[in-house]
Amino acid sequence: MAGWLSGCGGAGAGLVALVDAATDLVLPRECAGCTAAGPLLCPGCRRDLGGPARPVPAVAVPLPVLAVAPYAGTVRATLLAHKEQGRLGLAGPLGGALARAVRPLAGPHGVVLVPVPSRPSSVRARGHDATLRLARRAARELGARGAPALVRPALRLARATADQAGLTAGERAANLAGAMVARVPRGRNWSDGRLPLVVVDDVVTTGATLTEAVRALRAAGVQPAGAAVVAATLRRSPVRTVEEPGGLD
Ligand SMILES: [Zn+2]
Repeated sequence: MAGWLSGCGGAGAGLVALVDAATDLVLPRECAGCTAAGPLLCPGCRRDLGGPARPVPAVAVPLPVLAVAPYAGTVRATLLAHKEQGRLGLAGPLGGALARAVRPLAGPHGVVLVPVPSRPSSVRARGHDATLRLARRAARELGARGAPALVRPALRLARATADQAGLTAGERAANLAGAMVARVPRGRNWSDGRLPLVVVDDVVTTGATLTEAVRALRAAGVQPAGAAVVAATLRRSPVRTVEEPGGLD
């Protein structure tokens, strides 16, 4: 498992995450989405995460990419509060949203979720791996609703990469090209093609991260069925609602 541990923080980081989670439980705070006084996520901001899975057409990923919300407004604030501010109680509603994005890509016997790897420096700074956490919550949601899901952090970063924020589309692609490697053990029930593999992330912007994840998995001999994210950066092309066979709602 050593090669799969790039997403895990140290004991100190884990303690920070634990304290943050406990703080969220104990102290009355404000809504992470709209800052209204009250619960961690108010009903209106929960509704903003409640859309159906939609394809994200304007990203350069060689597979279907599904999202449930635009990356804007309260959804953006909620994702940032989870990832950057350690408001870990948000993993529940965000994981539920990610599960809805995954569901159309799941097979009749379940699905394998492969989270994109986080930069180790980001995990240390934040005290947790937000993408891995969302993948685990999404798997729990899927399992509870009849679609068994495994989480397999098979991807890791093989070299240092820059923070994607502030980079152009071309710079993002160059920053990540060839940066990931996949470790896919043979003979496991998740790697023999019986269960669809879905790459998961919190947000898609240009698609550079997902494209690199797909490339690395294909290089390791497996073919992902698609990718799912909570939110997609708004692009010019309109999004179209897709059917959700056996959907979660
Ligand atoms: Zn709110």
